[in-house]
Amino acid sequence: MSDRLYDDAMYRFDKPEQSYWEATKGQTSLEVQRLTANKVCDVAVIGAGYTGLSAAYHLCKEHDLDVHVLEAGHIGWGASGRNGGFCSIGGHKLDDSVMLKRYGLDVTRDYYKSQVEAVELVRDLIVEEEIDSHMIGDGEIDVACSDKGFTQLRDHVDFQSNELGLDAELLTKEELSESYCDFPLQHGGSILRPTFGLHPLQFIRGLARAALKHGAEISINSEVIEWVSDSRGHLLHTKEGTVRARNVVVATNGFSPELLHSQLMGVTLPMISAIVVTRPLTNAELQAHQWSTDCPTITAVNLMNYFRLLPDKRFLFGGRGSSDGSVEDAKRNYGKLISRFREVFPEWQGVDIDYQWHGLICMTRRLTPAIGRFTGDPSVFFGFGYHGNGVNTATWSGQQVARWLATGKESSIAKPSWLPDVVYGMPQRFPFAALRLRYIAAQIGMMTIRDKLS
Ligand SMILES: Cc1cc2nc3c(=O)[nH]c(=O)nc-3n(C[C@H](O)[C@H](O)[C@H](O)COP(=O)(O)OP(=O)(O)OC[C@H]3O[C@@H](n4cnc5c(N)ncnc54)[C@H](O)[C@@H]3O)c2cc1C
Repeated sequence: MSDRLYDDAMYRFDKPEQSYWEATKGQTSLEVQRLTANKVCDVAVIGAGYTGLSAAYHLCKEHDLDVHVLEAGHIGWGASGRNGGFCSIGGHKLDDSVMLKRYGLDVTRDYYKSQVEAVELVRDLIVEEEIDSHMIGDGEIDVACSDKGFTQLRDHVDFQSNELGLDAELLTKEELSESYCDFPLQHGGSILRPTFGLHPLQFIRGLARAALKHGAEISINSEVIEWVSDSRGHLLHTKEGTVRARNVVVATNGFSPELLHSQLMGVTLPMISAIVVTRPLTNAELQAHQWSTDCPTITAVNLMNYFRLLPDKRFLFGGRGSSDGSVEDAKRNYGKLISRFREVFPEWQGVDIDYQWHGLICMTRRLTPAIGRFTGDPSVFFGFGYHGNGVNTATWSGQQVARWLATGKESSIAKPSWLPDVVYGMPQRFPFAALRLRYIAAQIGMMTIRDKLS
């Protein structure tokens, strides 16, 4: 089995993704270098995305620990620097009925409460640390794509508001077109609050700046290539240096190096998601689809598309990514995504696409996020598996990991009372893990059929 699942093109840590976010990230540089020495600290964090940097920030600021973050690329090289910028409620991929059956109503409510808190955590961090991350919109719009889809959405909104106590509202086809947007596929929708859009790379860079301010060390271009554990703790090797630490936080999500530690093997299902961004749209073009909202929007189907109007009037449109991550397959997939964009928004047929890029989201076998400690070695913590909804969930997971590490018992992996059951512990491995790309193909086939039937 190889270290990672996709084509090598997905793991070029020395190259930034050619995204709209990279092109607009601003000029201020961060004072970070590659690791070229042997260091000692309390906690070593692997991965400088939202999970890793939020853990580092909270460990330093609230628990006064000595933390060193090791990142293979630059800050925000991973999904945290290339996502759609939806800060919204989600994080799992279970149907309502399955979640209720598995966990019961109280635990399900608990989970959703933590999701709302997670959105507010991101907002609070942005305000408190004065991060210039272009927050816009005040809810997530889910668009039904058929009459049957609208009926299903109505049941879902009932469940969200009556059972879970969420701020969800149903929108008829007319209400959606009058107040938000219109396009042929829309058959009504719903709006769920709180949600907002942000500049994901600016947010992660701001979080890095805040973590540095509170005392964290961050080394970039410093991939961890070997991990040795002994009675003195953990020794992480990069090409040119080492970090020795009592605790380790694994925060590598969809880019996890599976051979680095046996407990990482086969526990994640990384999937590629892709995004295209148009040139700025004119007022007349926006009017053609009655576009008058800044709210992040998704289609309420299994193989969904996600889209939003950006502050400079460009339009971001995302969806399914390439199958194997190779350059050729990615190119084919961008073509398909652009065709899909033009199919959904026929009035924008001739609009040029200025940016296209992709990255890895991360699923787990139980379809919920995973926060925990390694079995047999509670000094190692992890947070991963946000199912394409990590802006809030990963940031919150980093905070939970920090709290657990700083206040939990040293020798026990038992769940702390404040952690929702839905996210607790290491998920089961995928059986025949080497065949995960085939699972994905089969899953996508099934989702396509389910969407066609509805
Ligand atoms: C195209 C796309 C669109 C998305 N859209 C949204 C959205 O709109 N809203 C939303 O909430 N979520 C979205 N997501 C998901 C979200 O971006 C992720 O869930 C979140 O960023 C995960 O954060 P993380 O810190 O756990 O992982 P990452 O940000 O992926 O960070 C992991 C880091 O680990 C590093 N790493 C890996 N191996 C090593 C090693 N051996 N040594 C050192 N470093 C290592 C990687 O370089 C990487 O930077 C999207 C994802 C993608 C790809």
